[in-house]
Amino acid sequence: MNPVRVRFAPSPTGPLHIGGLRTALYNYLLARKTGGVFVLRIEDTDQKRYVEGAEAYIMEALEWCGISPDESPQKGGNYGPYRQSERREVYAEYVKKLLDNGSAYYAFDTEAELNDRREAEKAAGNHNFRYDASTRMSMRNSLSLPKAETKALLAEGTQQVIRFRIDSGNTVSFKDNVRENVSFQTEELGDQVLMKADGLPTYHLANIVDDHLMEITHVIRGEEWLPSTALHVLLYRAFGWEDTMPAFAHLPLLLNPNGKGKLSKRDGAKFGFPVFPLVWHDEAKGETAAGFREDGYLPQALVNFLAFLGWNPGTEQEIFSLSELVTAFDLERINKSGARFDIEKGKWYNQQYLIATSDEDLAPMVAAQFAAAGHEISPAKATKIAGLLKERVQLLPDFFEKGRFFVEPVTDYDEKTIRKKWKPDNRATFDQLADLLATHEDWTAAAIKSAVVAFMDANGLGFGAVLPILRVALSGSVQGPDAFEMLEAVGREETVARLRSGYDAFDAIKAGA
Ligand code: GLU
Repeated sequence: MNPVRVRFAPSPTGPLHIGGLRTALYNYLLARKTGGVFVLRIEDTDQKRYVEGAEAYIMEALEWCGISPDESPQKGGNYGPYRQSERREVYAEYVKKLLDNGSAYYAFDTEAELNDRREAEKAAGNHNFRYDASTRMSMRNSLSLPKAETKALLAEGTQQVIRFRIDSGNTVSFKDNVRENVSFQTEELGDQVLMKADGLPTYHLANIVDDHLMEITHVIRGEEWLPSTALHVLLYRAFGWEDTMPAFAHLPLLLNPNGKGKLSKRDGAKFGFPVFPLVWHDEAKGETAAGFREDGYLPQALVNFLAFLGWNPGTEQEIFSLSELVTAFDLERINKSGARFDIEKGKWYNQQYLIATSDEDLAPMVAAQFAAAGHEISPAKATKIAGLLKERVQLLPDFFEKGRFFVEPVTDYDEKTIRKKWKPDNRATFDQLADLLATHEDWTAAAIKSAVVAFMDANGLGFGAVLPILRVALSGSVQGPDAFEMLEAVGREETVARLRSGYDAFDAIKAGA
């Protein structure tokens, strides 16, 4: 058995869609599981759709997820170049083999001629004109024209394309690891263009030649490529490469949150979630599309979430690190049916990973969120906030949203709680408590708690009378982490100041009620 070699072959036509990232992930997992090689090949032969920056984006996204390729345009390798635009001569050489063995032919029909023919067919009631075995002899190509004329046209440098000759009446069958046995009729295919007028290959030709020369053993890609696979099988046969043809696995579609229809960029905008791993600025359109990274997802969580969109381990276990995925992954367990993209599940995964990350490791991420809001906080404070809030947040920006009270005075109080709990004579009691705290030496949660409990006992007050007020004065809300931990983190002076400035606001709320 040859060593496993898989490839991710994106076209740099824009940012990498989350479905593409899943394809890359599954390829990576199979490579790592089998001790094989993961290749990144950039399929950039369609110059009209080429987008500047897309290749760099793809590389960055793979790197962020920890699934960098072993061979790539940047890394090199023994099978390069890894950008198709740099392999023109290779395709010219190989398409010649097909011309020589009669599997391909020159076609000289101009765009205008093809349009005229389409129109004429339409007028005659045929709306699906196809350049194929049934029509090719009525077109202008090296099969229909006399040899001498073809020769002359080529000698004059007449614009031409090279088409694949597909005979009708045959069934092409192949095995797919996910779909099992797949068959297509050759009538459905048509004589596809292999080499365009600009001398660049089409996707089909370049893809097959490269998969062969790069010794790819498994083609793992999205389901949308399944119909093309019949054509690819015929190309392998035409080249005489059927014996080393790769195995195929076509991944199920990612469906939108309703489970109806393919997940699109528009769904992301409509439902307010990212469909790209990293933020993408479309200079031409002046648009920005959200990214999982910038929205505050951890790459490990995204990877785990994506792994489960189309695959399952066959057990109840849902949390898998990348190396656990490598061990558990199996092409045989890829689902056939489309996978509904449920962002709530994605958030759940993120939460699980935040909880599982140590406070120290989270601290720089937490500090970055505060810094983005204009607050520099110390590593110690960031570690503390990470620990207090990680069970209560889903995405990184939530640390600031739920933790801004650690660094900013409260302006918004939970009025409902105040109306219910704040009594006119509370002021004197809480003033005493503020005095007590102002001189309390040991500013640790446990020591503060004993002092406050002793104060409550001495004044015949229960937790219910004191803690909600304390919490609202401190953070604006009754929710949040342990109250005494909050006091410790906010600090003595600030706690006292917030208690005292809270009274006026509380009286006002009460008066307004
Ligand atoms: N360039 C194709 C794409 O953009 C590759 C498809 C394949 O993996 O064969 O998805």
